[in-house]
Amino acid sequence: MAVTRRGLLQGAAAASCMPVLPLWAGIDVGTMRIDTLSDGHLTLPADFIFGPMPQDAIAPIRVAHGLTGDTLTSPCTVTLMRRADQVVLFDAGAGSGFQPTVGALVDALAGLDIAPEDVTHVVFTHAHPDHIWGVLDDFDDPLFTDAAHLIGRVEFDYWMDPTTADTIGADRQAFAVGAQRRLEALADRLAFFEDGAEILPGVAAVASHGHTPGHMSFELRDGSNSLMVLGDAIGNGHVAFARPDLPSGSDQDPEAAIDTRQRLFDLITAEQMQIVGFHFPEGGLGRAEAHGDGFVFIPETAG
Ligand SMILES: [Zn+2]
Repeated sequence: MAVTRRGLLQGAAAASCMPVLPLWAGIDVGTMRIDTLSDGHLTLPADFIFGPMPQDAIAPIRVAHGLTGDTLTSPCTVTLMRRADQVVLFDAGAGSGFQPTVGALVDALAGLDIAPEDVTHVVFTHAHPDHIWGVLDDFDDPLFTDAAHLIGRVEFDYWMDPTTADTIGADRQAFAVGAQRRLEALADRLAFFEDGAEILPGVAAVASHGHTPGHMSFELRDGSNSLMVLGDAIGNGHVAFARPDLPSGSDQDPEAAIDTRQRLFDLITAEQMQIVGFHFPEGGLGRAEAHGDGFVFIPETAG
């Protein structure tokens, strides 16, 4: 095929505008098809995570993962579950109003020929901006027009509490205002659940509080196959694995988050569960393996 200058220029222009759609590996959990979708990535001050940790203890981990700079790049990955006529998103990404490098979820869905109106359920792990701000379109209308939206009752009550904006701390005040605005916009399409509830057949809510007061993870099970959608309960693929016992600056209640991480690592390693983390590298899907005093993330790659 002849390559023309015009074609090259068009190709280059198209390439520069195209969202990056990495070919992550999807897996089947029994009759459930699981794919992970990139919403983009966040750029964070490194101290947002590392600040409260003993610096000498984490120095070798930072070196091993190439994280010695002042900023961190944190991938954002939404989990999609499809089964029969169900199209279920776990979290909704950040939308267009948070950081310029996130908000790619709709493009990632289009890569699988899924339009926002095809989504039947949006299930929230928690209401931080990178997880919930994507529920509204640029006109502030619900984006997933035909979907039921499900959120843990404790998490909903926390963000809707009028005192939260004053008690959460100045650096997260915008989180509170933003969450409340979106939950109010979704009011007539929200459903609530408690810890242990089977929110869909084979999908159980697992309380994993600490990152936020009502954070929820989800155990997907079909026969002997299982997968845990962790959200931010295990918040990255580096220190959260290597030293789950250390307090992270990204967690609103660091001590509760440590207890949650240790309980989850016990569960997912004992049962050899597949896992997906919202801020894990390489598509977010994989498993945890014991390593030294902690764990290591083994990604499921596209092969
Ligand atoms: Zn997050």
